[in-house]
Amino acid sequence: MKYRVAQCLDRFVCVGAECEDTCCKGWRIGIDRESYEAYRKEKGAFGRRLFWGIDHKNRCFKLKGRACAFLNSQGFCDIYKEMGREGMCRECRDYPRHVEDYGNLKEAMLCLSCPEAARVIVRDESQGAWREWEREERRKRREEDGQSGEISERQEGSRELLEALEEVRDTLSALLRKRSVSFGQRLAMALAFCHDFQRRWNMACEAGGRDNGKKSGLGGVREAARQLSERYLAEKAAERFARRILPFRRQEAERMIRMGAWMRLTEGMEPVLAGWDKIVGQMCRELYHEKGIKEYEGLRREFEEKAVSLEREWENLALYFVNTYVLGAFYDGDVYGKAKLAVFSVMMIRERCLFLYGREGKADERALVKAACRYSRQVENSDQNLEFLEKELVKNHLFSLKGMMAVV
Ligand code: SF4
Repeated sequence: MKYRVAQCLDRFVCVGAECEDTCCKGWRIGIDRESYEAYRKEKGAFGRRLFWGIDHKNRCFKLKGRACAFLNSQGFCDIYKEMGREGMCRECRDYPRHVEDYGNLKEAMLCLSCPEAARVIVRDESQGAWREWEREERRKRREEDGQSGEISERQEGSRELLEALEEVRDTLSALLRKRSVSFGQRLAMALAFCHDFQRRWNMACEAGGRDNGKKSGLGGVREAARQLSERYLAEKAAERFARRILPFRRQEAERMIRMGAWMRLTEGMEPVLAGWDKIVGQMCRELYHEKGIKEYEGLRREFEEKAVSLEREWENLALYFVNTYVLGAFYDGDVYGKAKLAVFSVMMIRERCLFLYGREGKADERALVKAACRYSRQVENSDQNLEFLEKELVKNHLFSLKGMMAVV
């Protein structure tokens, strides 16, 4: 078993009562079965408080106003106070850390929805780097299995698929850090790279069988990832790519219309954050209805110039989404969809920052962290909203490759 931990995770410390937007506010926290049973067994006055503070039908904490019923007036958790860290439910104990499981690989990272974690993520000097180790006894067993020929075709397929996806993710990270080209072009290259890789992967699956190619056809996928990576990271690749996408990037009116449509799409999501639909409505009105194309583009150019001073922060944000989503294609075979979701997320946060810049004239780290954190609460903390977006990104013509090139 291989383990990976995002290097920035070590720098996270919860700021507790100092937190400007505590995680206990704004949404119902689900309770895992084990903690729920422990809460039901709790006796005395606190046991009674637990009973009345839990929504037993949905197995989550009730809200008092907008906050968890157990958040006290000093901003601390009463469950922690009464029962200690062990008494907290799994979600509260782990948050904002989360672990992704890819079979023989587990990755731990931070969630962007916590404001302190968001600050750590955007300031990350390691730029999305990982610490990695492998359990010695497992590796030995794998080597022995390999030598004796016992490793199954399926296990071998899973390993190769993961390696191909890791190569894809490394290439995306390299493209996103390529400062010789604009941030928009880097996002465009990341999309095009995943689009091209997906086509090759689909072809290999068709030729070799189903199951995302885990059983067969994988030699070709790994090789395709390697060859495409070389092509996209070659010395003159960025220049050639810039010429290819120039016609899309000149369509200013198209960009504004599409961005407005992306924004409006999010209005219909489950409102995890109080007032999300109002915020989106306000942005649509002020950015796309009250402004003409020239005015909007003028504001956008001004903002883009200011955003250059936060180059690393924007890169880190894009790297966060890539690191969080791309390996998920191991399960559903849709790496292009993951790249689209990453780019869409960055663009939605950037547009929120543009809106704030238009209002307050500031394009600083504070605005970026706040926009990123709120987007993440609304989208990443809701499976329903994530599924909604994933479906739209696949079927909605707004998210064709050309359409997305016009926006980034
Ligand atoms: S949101 Fe983050 S910093 Fe704030 S209370 Fe929760 S874990 Fe701590």
